[in-house]
Amino acid sequence: METRLYKCEYCRKEFLPVRRRVQKYCSNSCRSKSHHKKAKSTDKIEVDKLGNKTTKTSVEKLSIAGVGNAAIGSAAVDLLKYAFTKEENKPATKSDIKNLAKKLKRYHRK
Ligand SMILES: [Zn+2]
Repeated sequence: METRLYKCEYCRKEFLPVRRRVQKYCSNSCRSKSHHKKAKSTDKIEVDKLGNKTTKTSVEKLSIAGVGNAAIGSAAVDLLKYAFTKEENKPATKSDIKNLAKKLKRYHRK
C-alpha cells in the first residue's frame, strides 16, 4: 500500500492517494479547478504576449493610417455617388462638383 503523502497541486494539502500511481490532486474538484485556472492563466499570457508584441503595435499603427484612409475613401465614394446619382446618368462636371462641395460645406456648417 502507498503510505507516502502526496501534495495536492491545487490546494497544497497533503493527502493519501487513492490510486497508487501519480495523483496530483486530492480531489476531482481540485483537479478540475486547477485545469480551469491553468487554461485561463495561459490564455491571458498568450493574449498579452500577442497584444504587446504584435497585435497591439501593428493595430495602433494601422488604425491611425486606416482611419485616415477610410475617412478619405468613404468621403470620396460618397462624393462620387452623390455626383453620379444626382444628375441621373449624366457624368459629373467640375461645376457639378463645385456646387456639390458648396452644398456639403453648408451642410456641415449647420
Ligand atoms: Zn486539493
